[in-house]
Amino acid sequence: MKKSKGPSRRTGIKSMPCKDCGRKVDNLDESSVAVTCWRCVCKGINPNSVILSDLSGEEISKLISKK
Ligand SMILES: [Zn+2]
Repeated sequence: MKKSKGPSRRTGIKSMPCKDCGRKVDNLDESSVAVTCWRCVCKGINPNSVILSDLSGEEISKLISKK
């Protein structure tokens, strides 16, 4: 068995920073000129939505205990 050097890359796929928050977004079509990550899409649809992965454990427990 040969050791592979990382994941094999498909051609025509690239990564770009989100135009709103700057997070890297993977698996974009090569022809993409700008990208909005799913977090910013969610926030665009519902500005009050909370992205759990953006919160620390402490913030999440505060949120859950909040009434
Ligand atoms: Zn974003």
